[in-house]
Amino acid sequence: MQAGITLGNIARQHVAERGAKIALRGAGGALSFGELERHACQVANGLISAGVLPGDRVAYLGKNSLHYFEALLGAAKTGAVMAPINWRLAAPEVADLIEDCQPKWLLAEHGFEATATQIAPRIVRLDNAGRDGFAAWRDAQVASNPHHQAAVTDAALQLYTSGTTGRPKGVVLTHQSLFGLRAGMTPDTMPPWYTWSSEDISLIAMPAAHISGTGWGIWSLMSGATGVVSADFDPHAVFELMVEHRINKIMMVPTAIQIAIRHPQARTSDFSFLRHICYGGAPMPAALLDEAMQVFGCGFVQMYGMTETSGTIVALPPEDHDPARGARLNSVGVPLPGVALKICDAQGRPCKSGETGEILTRSIANMSGYFGRPEETAKTLDAQGWLRTGDAGFIDQDGYLFLRDRVKDMIITGGENVYPAEVENAIRSHPGVFDVAVIGVSDATWGEVVTAVVVPRSEEDRQAQSIIEFARTRIARYKCPKRIEFVAALPRNAAGKILRRELRESFRPKS
Ligand code: AMP
Repeated sequence: MQAGITLGNIARQHVAERGAKIALRGAGGALSFGELERHACQVANGLISAGVLPGDRVAYLGKNSLHYFEALLGAAKTGAVMAPINWRLAAPEVADLIEDCQPKWLLAEHGFEATATQIAPRIVRLDNAGRDGFAAWRDAQVASNPHHQAAVTDAALQLYTSGTTGRPKGVVLTHQSLFGLRAGMTPDTMPPWYTWSSEDISLIAMPAAHISGTGWGIWSLMSGATGVVSADFDPHAVFELMVEHRINKIMMVPTAIQIAIRHPQARTSDFSFLRHICYGGAPMPAALLDEAMQVFGCGFVQMYGMTETSGTIVALPPEDHDPARGARLNSVGVPLPGVALKICDAQGRPCKSGETGEILTRSIANMSGYFGRPEETAKTLDAQGWLRTGDAGFIDQDGYLFLRDRVKDMIITGGENVYPAEVENAIRSHPGVFDVAVIGVSDATWGEVVTAVVVPRSEEDRQAQSIIEFARTRIARYKCPKRIEFVAALPRNAAGKILRRELRESFRPKS
């Protein structure tokens, strides 16, 4: 891969060799690399005429679409920074993000024009919005390349963190955050599963507003592969797309895998064309991974990373997905070439191998900072480039990273530290438990009480004592829940992460 590649040029670099090859397929048809490049240039010229300048933000509100990728590349061609907004958010939440990001231009995809006009009446131009409006506006622009020379350290993409821990922050990723790790690898150092070719067919089904959606789409385009864009993760549609297009590379969060393997055709379909299912973003329950490996029978790659690291920085490759490897399957893997990791205690001192502490990482993929929040940036990213992930974990003697939990989700009960994930894993295999989240609820005696919020498989499974006793056979007594609360469903965000703050709020003792 070229060292100085920038987002605006990822389609252009394929035009000479494979201009007629399909770059993206989606609900609106298909786009070859040549067409995508032409449309991106037209969008760029339209943005320039609308007064968009290098460094300006432009926003996108909508589901995954071909228009989104045209706008993503088009914005980059002008030096502007795309900020995709999660369409699942309520109007006041969208308004909050717009307020934070102050976009010069907002593209509202078909179906989202009304929200966009309501929250940003001065920005959204209705003649730009909607399926036909966008195409007509784009096609009225000249298709010449604006030839903006972006530096690799310029901002390229602004993604809002999922907000499980507080107000969403705009994570600013530069061109080198997006492409630098891959560009720094050689054929010898690049892990085989990380190698993409123009023969690959990938499914872009995760939301564009998340790094697993946009980042995946960028990987696909950059490699000259064909990306099949699914508007959202509808398990039925995804199944049909996988089989129809013979998708061989797919990224799914564990909840999406859980939905997919419950599909009635999951056990009867032929998936022999699938090469890799990549998963990550949230803890993968062991039983679900076993089942998914049986159903799909392809290579599995666990990926660990965060928006602030442009996605994956650590991965567990297919060869480590061997049940015989035992404990290693509980690891999220080894750092990608070019990524440094360290584990530090609460005072910032490095921990020994096997000791749990906060995970810090340094690599070219790290964000440049949070948009307009220098204090928050300084708390997360130090002067030497180490980024605090907020995740707790340890590294074993072979260099494999094991995650414990979010540092701030750790429960302190009677002076002992308890990591919710460990308790959840212990409870999840109880036959009456469909889903579980463990939180700390403040308590006068214990400081916090380990509380399991359980979705039972059926009404008869509301058996609190049976769940507590089951946990006691698997983990230390102090880690076992003292309280069980039954609920119909757990609150999760679009990326499948449990909204623990919301749960803690629901079960906070009334004073
Ligand atoms: P986000 O920035 O929304 O992608 O969230 C990043 C967070 O997701 C990380 O800090 C972890 O807490 C969690 N996460 C990412 N990958 C994994 C994984 N493979 N297993 C468990 N948790 C993960």
